[in-house]
Amino acid sequence: MQLGDEDTEARLQVLAEEAAACTRCELSRGRTKSVFARGTAATDLVFVGEGPGFHEDEQGLPFVGRAGQLLDRMVAAMGYDRDGVYICNVVKCRPPDNRTPLPSEAEACASFLVPQLDLVQPKVIVALGRCAAENLGVVPPAGRWRGIWGQWRGVAVMPTYHPAFLLRSPQFKKPVWEDLQQVLTRLNRTPPKR
Ligand code: URA
Repeated sequence: MQLGDEDTEARLQVLAEEAAACTRCELSRGRTKSVFARGTAATDLVFVGEGPGFHEDEQGLPFVGRAGQLLDRMVAAMGYDRDGVYICNVVKCRPPDNRTPLPSEAEACASFLVPQLDLVQPKVIVALGRCAAENLGVVPPAGRWRGIWGQWRGVAVMPTYHPAFLLRSPQFKKPVWEDLQQVLTRLNRTPPKR
């Protein structure tokens, strides 16, 4: 999206309102708030997670719990402002007990994710976790999936581990940082000195 593209902002707003009223799948029954996105659509970098958790459902914003705080630190380490990237999820309503969304739920919610990403038009999408990577079609039939570039409707996708997994298994932060450095290289950016 171009800075100041009011039409794109307006269309994203309409999509967010449609998601807030959506009853296409069972997840809508359990939601407090739908969770569409946070950050700016005027960016070259989008992060896609799995689905809202407890805090996200309460606040109506993605990645605001502990995993979100780690994601914010990753974004800062890449040299972006917290709100300088666009963050959304495969599904817009919280799955019960934070389970992985069912394929039918992800498919129902693709009617939001696809136009959402098409409107933002990032240069790179980072898929956070296997669910996001699978739904963006970048998991190979066999073998490793993390750290291997894929494509979604012509946009470069870097699949990497989910920050919630990194909270449980911090030893995997290093390979994730390597993936994010590949992303910066693709975006012609250098990470700030740490
Ligand atoms: N995990 C996700 O995948 N998305 C969120 O918004 C929060 C936690």
